[in-house]
Formats: sequence, C-alpha cells, structure tokens
Amino acid sequence: MNLREYVKDVPGFPQPGIMFRDVTPMLQSPDAFGEVTKCLAKPFWPERTDNLCVVGIEARGFIFAAALAREYRAGFVPVRKAGKLPRRTIKECYSLEYRESDVLEIHEDAVRPGQPVLVVDDVLATGGTAIAACKLLKKLGAHLLGCTFVIELEGLGGRASLRAMHVPIHSVIKY
Ligand code: AMP
Repeated sequence: MNLREYVKDVPGFPQPGIMFRDVTPMLQSPDAFGEVTKCLAKPFWPERTDNLCVVGIEARGFIFAAALAREYRAGFVPVRKAGKLPRRTIKECYSLEYRESDVLEIHEDAVRPGQPVLVVDDVLATGGTAIAACKLLKKLGAHLLGCTFVIELEGLGGRASLRAMHVPIHSVIKY
C-alpha cells in the first residue's frame, strides 16, 4: 500500500509559504489507518508490553498514538498545549515551523520513573515539538524507546535536532 497517496498537500496553510501535509484522507481509509499504525510501531515493538505507554502530541498526534496504544494494548498519555490539562503539570517551551513559540505540558503523574514510552506525532518538521515532548518525559524519568512520525519533512532538519535527545527516530513517509 502506498501511504503517500493518502496525504494531501495544501499550499499556503495555515499561512503563506507553508506546505501543509494533511493526513485526514489517511484517517478516512480503514486500510490506510491500520497500515500506518503498524508502520509507526514497527521498529519499536518491544517484547514485553505490560508497562508501555504511548505518548501523543496535541492534536493530530493524539489520533495516531491512541490507535497505536489500543492496537498494542499500551496506555495512552497526552502532551498538550498550555492550559488544557486539568491537574498539576510540568511545562516546556518550544518553537515551531509556522509559529514563534508555544508551551507543551504533561500531567506530572502521567508516567512513572523508568516506564518505557514511545512518542508519536503526525509530522516531524523542525523537531521543536518532539524535543519539548522528550524533555518533559525525561523530566518525569521515563525510559524513551523512541519517537515515531507519520511524516518527516527532511529539509527542515528535525531529525538532526532531535538526535540531541539520544532517542531512536522513525518516520513512515519522507518528503
Ligand atoms: P516541528 O516542531 O517544527 O517539528 O513541527 C511539528 C508539529 O507541527 C507537528 O505537531 C505537526 O502537526 C505540525 N506541523 C509542522 N509543519 C507541518 C506541516 N508542513 N504540515 C502539517 N503539520 C505540520
């Protein structure tokens, strides 16, 4: 199956100069959604899964991370934009491809020290978002198994930046 066919390019969204990679067609197709879920997990699938937690980054990361968590009987943890989580959180500032900076948060009791976690998002662009998520998880003492993305925009250097986190990186579709 060619998953690339299920990504639509939207030039100039959400602002001029950005080529937005829209994954909603991939979600509309049960076959493509199922296939991408398997591809996201492939390099990381651990033998023991009792304790595994899949971390999804708001917003589209939630969709893929939750599917992965259900498919592999793991827990799901959201990393959200500032002010959305109701209980005590820790925070991390980050910069974006098409916005200056933002804050990500996670509940301070979301992950136990040493717990294996897999971080999921739809797109790896500059890497700022994923780095912030990894920093949050490291602060909580999580064992980072890896970061996995549906799409990697290779020209934006996200993989090189994310290497600073010393975490295995995987992407399903590269542009
Ligand atoms: P970055 O922090 O620069 O790696 O940006 C990654 C985050 O921004 C992901 O959560 C994506 O959802 C979103 N994003 C960045 N660039 C794009 C793009 N060209 N198309 C779709 N989403 C994008």
